[in-house]
Amino acid sequence: MPDVHVIDHPLVQHKLSLMRDKDASTGDFRKLLGEISMLLGYEITRDLPLTYTEVETPLATMRAPIIDGKKLCLIAILRAGLGFVDGMLPLIPSARVGHVGMYRDHETLEAIEYYFKLPDEMETRDAIVVDPMLATGNSAIAAVERVLETNPRSLKFMCLLAAPEGIEAFHEVLPDVPIFTAAIDERLDENGYIVPGLGDAGDRLYGTR
Ligand code: URA
Repeated sequence: MPDVHVIDHPLVQHKLSLMRDKDASTGDFRKLLGEISMLLGYEITRDLPLTYTEVETPLATMRAPIIDGKKLCLIAILRAGLGFVDGMLPLIPSARVGHVGMYRDHETLEAIEYYFKLPDEMETRDAIVVDPMLATGNSAIAAVERVLETNPRSLKFMCLLAAPEGIEAFHEVLPDVPIFTAAIDERLDENGYIVPGLGDAGDRLYGTR
């Protein structure tokens, strides 16, 4: 599959299985999403460019590697994307954060935008757009297309679960945007939910089901 990265680390897979359990509490679900986002964040930032700075250790002076610039921008698709960003920020505390508000019309499953706020100078930033569920792909496609209008230096999409239908739709419109996910599930049901999935990620994260 083109440019789809499945993060199959055992810790990620174990935590994801715990999240799928319908009896997991809101608190456990939230905590696990935070932990998995940090692990996925570790993988998705693997190719961040490095530069060198002089550091004096107690023994010697050396040229030590540090991340080049502070140009990362995490972009949460509201609302479930917030849980993802919260989990990644301890890893990259200087990242800027943008928000895209999308809800899906329950009849048409179309994505409707209601909020859009990104940091300035996006053309100098590497963007990571996050949403736990890549289901029909409608919200992810709409959000990524809006973000691309700001000309980020690079853009990756990160989710927890993806449906094959969502991946196909996404790459049909956005073939050059890499997808990072913890798992690819079987299919979508007639209501646009991922099966077996984990239910409504936003409801489970915020206890609104
Ligand atoms: N959004 C969710 O939260 N869950 C799904 O299964 C599909 C879309």
